[in-house]
Amino acid sequence: MARDRIHGVALNEFALIDVLRAHCTHVRGDVALGIGDDAAVLGVPAGRQLVACTDTLVAGVHFLADTAPGDIGWKSLAVNLSDLAAMGAEPAWAMLALTLPQADKRFVEAFAQGFAEFANAHDVALVGGDTTQGPLSITVTALGFVPARQALTRAGARAGDAVFVTGTLGDAAGALRLLRDRDLGQSHLPPQEERRRAATGGCGAADSGLQAERTQLLGRLDRPQPRVAAGLALRGIATACIDVSDGLLADLGHVCAMSGVAAEIHVDALPLSAALSATFDAATCRELALTGGDDYELCFTVPETRIAEIVEKLGRAGCGVTRIGRIVAGAGVRALDVRGNVVTPQRAGWEHFTP
Ligand code: ADP
Ligand code: MG
Repeated sequence: MARDRIHGVALNEFALIDVLRAHCTHVRGDVALGIGDDAAVLGVPAGRQLVACTDTLVAGVHFLADTAPGDIGWKSLAVNLSDLAAMGAEPAWAMLALTLPQADKRFVEAFAQGFAEFANAHDVALVGGDTTQGPLSITVTALGFVPARQALTRAGARAGDAVFVTGTLGDAAGALRLLRDRDLGQSHLPPQEERRRAATGGCGAADSGLQAERTQLLGRLDRPQPRVAAGLALRGIATACIDVSDGLLADLGHVCAMSGVAAEIHVDALPLSAALSATFDAATCRELALTGGDDYELCFTVPETRIAEIVEKLGRAGCGVTRIGRIVAGAGVRALDVRGNVVTPQRAGWEHFTP
């Protein structure tokens, strides 16, 4: 942190780092020097390449202001592990740049707990970071490994490949819609109570009695489970891979652009959770699955000859997988309905700086 520590922020800052350290206790043998010095010293195993990514979460942009601090902690690391998963990388280390309006002990404790719960479950050691005062914003850098030259990329899709997606799409966007509807209702309840109510109904969805389903959708928004095992299983088989963080159309669009191909997907083949189907009408589900962000599933391409192998492998990794279309020559992504008509959603996906 900068010079303002001279003016008395110092205690807060180091006490805060101590709270993070106390929770993130996961030890790895490849950390020669972790938190506490000017930089971390880490050992990359022989024959492996380091895979690095960073994602920032800003309050009011990437999460609603009333999101539980533990969920923010969890999600700040989870979204990064999703990027590593999309590269087929095995996660190892994380760095955390935390900007907080004030070092509120309860917030930091809960944040650290959520972060550590996810980190420990994925064998990730927190090896450093930075702490500053300002509007709430969290930047995590995640580091992992792949065997040399085996990283999955967005660039290898070829005409004739099949397009697949893991798990189900649209749940997180469905949860966000429930929460937004709640906000439009402009109730004057305390935020946490409102959040609970959004989970328990009465906010404009198809049926207001679907408590378990709403809780499930909110869970996917607040505590995403990135497809780390699936990413590892795809190495050496998938020709291209991306995680669905901005919406399927937008993200598959990136694969097409980087690979110099086009994709045709069938909207009726998109995998939907029972919770999403029970909560919204069919047209809304379809739009959420096509354009909703924050699902952190993997979308990948695979040659026809290797489909059986990949389905079997992902099944063993405990991951459902659905074929949603194919790669063809050309550019862009076409979403088709059962009659072969092109479906055009209002918005392709999430993008910053879009007016
Ligand atoms: P410097 O002033 O040399 O940049 P800092 O005082 O910012 O060092 O940090 C001291 C140590 O604490 C460093 O090892 C740094 O990586 C670690 N650290 C600071 N903030 C965080 C954080 N939010 N999460 C994890 N480690 C942190
Ligand atoms: Mg220093």
